Amino acid sequence: MRVDALTLRGYRNYAEAALRFDGAVNVISGRNAQGKTNLLEAVYLLSGGRSFRTRFDKELIGFDRDFASVEAEVVSGGREQRIELLLRRGAPKRITVNRVKTAAAELGGIVNAVLFCPDDLNLLRDGPAARRRLMDLAISQLRPGYARLLSDYTKLYENKTRILRDYRDDPRMLDTLDDFSDGLCRASARLIRYRASFARRLAAAAGPVHREFSGAGEDLTVRYRTVSTVTDPEASEQAIYEEICEHQRLHRAAELAAGACLTGAHKDDLDIDINGRSARAYASQGQTRTAALSLKLAEREIFLAETGEYPVLLLDDVLSELDAMRQDFVLNRIGGGQTLITCCEDEQIAQKTGGKVILIENGTIKES
Ligand code: ATP
Ligand code: MG
Repeated sequence: MRVDALTLRGYRNYAEAALRFDGAVNVISGRNAQGKTNLLEAVYLLSGGRSFRTRFDKELIGFDRDFASVEAEVVSGGREQRIELLLRRGAPKRITVNRVKTAAAELGGIVNAVLFCPDDLNLLRDGPAARRRLMDLAISQLRPGYARLLSDYTKLYENKTRILRDYRDDPRMLDTLDDFSDGLCRASARLIRYRASFARRLAAAAGPVHREFSGAGEDLTVRYRTVSTVTDPEASEQAIYEEICEHQRLHRAAELAAGACLTGAHKDDLDIDINGRSARAYASQGQTRTAALSLKLAEREIFLAETGEYPVLLLDDVLSELDAMRQDFVLNRIGGGQTLITCCEDEQIAQKTGGKVILIENGTIKES
């Protein structure tokens, strides 16, 4: 799939801008704070109606505007499609596909995007939240109900945490604790099945991708880790639910004492090894960065297997962080699919690709 054309109105620092993309490599170049990441964000929005930078649509609307729109012509499943998003202050966003009103969760069936940005360079070294986010962003695009499940989980988690934190001041709060715990166990079971299945496929794709990308034949292994009582994270939802309930039961007193949720999918992680040893503990800075990008490239393969098409690859500001060999790999050897790469004005990088160069200056497209 690919995005052919994009029109932005009142979106972040773009008053009005229209541009066309190449089907392969596009280099988006410009000085700092001109709108490069904003442009990638607008493309990412097409994949599920959510930004990768904020949960709040109002932040996407130009400072002095009441609404913003993102319109795109895309080709997906061999069909030309027109996607329009209208973001309004104080009202839910409106999404249409070929002029028919569509739910955000349905966009993942049309446009998929994989983003790699400077924060992701630390994917292997950061805490578990970064790796859960990797899984969650991908699965949200692949499974229409997942984003909703995740937000339900977050609400249950916040409610339960509030009870555990404040019940000493108001013991009546304990009346609803078991209900929230049960809801959390149910939602955990569902999240765990999705994530375990995704992690298995990520592991299978990451090995070969990393051997090539690392240039050193390194072995990258990925394993999903969840609540310790869960024996098979891909078992039936009911079986997983019962095992988490057991964990929950064992930890009830500890949760009350700690004033925090100790059981559930919010503790999930991916264990990542390079050449058989924990990457977090032993790998060099360069090795972990390379492996982080390998995971994103592996994610592309999962989308390809699932949808028959590569997702759009969005690389924000990461080229300058890679050595010459990996730059060459990214610019010239990531085959198939469309890539949008931002970089600060760098003629050399632009010239290294046969792709299209798009110059951004203060929210306007200078050259394309
Ligand atoms: P860098 O190279 O530093 O990453 P960039 O070109 O990626 O820069 P962007 O993150 O796209 O820069 O942001 C460009 C500008 O958009 C920033 O100066 C920011 O203040 C502005 N901006 C962000 N949100 C809005 C908004 N809602 N309305 C208007 N302008 C905004
Ligand atoms: Mg940027």
